Amino acid sequence: MPVKKGIRLRLYPNTEQSILLNKTLGCCRFLYNKMLEEHITVYAQLKDDNDALYNHKYKTEKQYKLEYPFLKEVDAKALQTANRQLFAAYQNFFEGLKTGREVGFPRFKSKKRYPQTYTTYNINNSIRIDPQRRKIRIPKVGWVKYSDNRTISDPIKHITLSKTAPHKYFVAVTVVSEVEIPPKKAVLHSKDVAGFDMSATHFLIGEHTQYENPRFYRDEEKRLKKRHRELSRKEKGSKNREKARLKLGQVYEKINKRKRDWLHKVTHDLSERYDAVILENLNIKGMQQFNSGLSKSITLDFSWYQFRAYLGYKMDWKGKYFVLIDRFFPSSKLCSVCSQINNDLKLSDRVWTCKLCGTTHHRDKNAVVNIKGEGIRILQEEIGIVVISTTHHDTSTVGTTGSHASGENVRPPLPILGQFSRKEESTSL
Ligand SMILES: [Zn+2]
Repeated sequence: MPVKKGIRLRLYPNTEQSILLNKTLGCCRFLYNKMLEEHITVYAQLKDDNDALYNHKYKTEKQYKLEYPFLKEVDAKALQTANRQLFAAYQNFFEGLKTGREVGFPRFKSKKRYPQTYTTYNINNSIRIDPQRRKIRIPKVGWVKYSDNRTISDPIKHITLSKTAPHKYFVAVTVVSEVEIPPKKAVLHSKDVAGFDMSATHFLIGEHTQYENPRFYRDEEKRLKKRHRELSRKEKGSKNREKARLKLGQVYEKINKRKRDWLHKVTHDLSERYDAVILENLNIKGMQQFNSGLSKSITLDFSWYQFRAYLGYKMDWKGKYFVLIDRFFPSSKLCSVCSQINNDLKLSDRVWTCKLCGTTHHRDKNAVVNIKGEGIRILQEEIGIVVISTTHHDTSTVGTTGSHASGENVRPPLPILGQFSRKEESTSL
């Protein structure tokens, strides 16, 4: 099956080439902003006349090129992509209005905002790689040096050039490669199914494993604050301010790189260890909560969509399952033993006792059991696969609903779901 893969390379353009790259970035930004401006003007003029607004003919790229001839000097495909990006941003915005999702109105692209990017497509081999010389051919720019040891032999679909705050250049090469994907498993053992509760303090909490937030979040946060302070002290428009901005950009870049590496590591590990991974779908609000627990700065945020995408394709490629359960599923409030819902549960309650069956729950562990249970239900009822109950490390018995009692000094009063715990895991509170 053909799948898209991305490979990111650091570029080392010579002076002439970096001028050309900057020019393309500038032209794409210029065209994007001009088109956005036009849209805003037209909207202001015609907003009361739906028909006219709907049928309005916006200026084409060609017309813009006639008006601003310098646009002709750069890669035409890159300009087309800028146009398409604006269109997509618009559609996203209007879709958001319909569905109530919070999507901002397309914004003007600023010269000062990094990374700056443009995307261009491979047409008749216009983009190719020479691994011997370690050079990549970029339309209108020529052969640019890169550093990387990986062999890239799959056909190139498109590339995205980016310039980061410390004025470094990168290219993300999207290739199409044939991947041998095993057929999806039809029968799973519940011990190979893992549910995780996500939290700002611990990242992922599972039944038997935990993935902690990387230490570097904290270290880098200090550095980031320091660099921000330095920048704010420098006089506006001064050379020193520019230098401070570069330094700050370097910290951001390093964090992003480490974050990506870390996300790949965690998702790889999960996809190796389990046949199915179950998580709760986070909404924007939930993410904000998640992030505020981590850090106040925006870059250190947890990239939920990135994490979800990495895990999704890694599970897929191994014939495994990644299940997201509904964000309204009451994973914390539900008693995993008797299914009673505790509506009095507060966010600060780390331990609670079920009023119906008397089980004492550790908040996170109870949620994990419920998440796994709901995931197994989806796997069986909605995806149609069989999940066989199996014991894990001989510590607990997991029924088909995935529930088993958790917490301390719990003993199974009501055999409603027919499960019981044989031996408690040590639960530190
Ligand atoms: Zn209960």
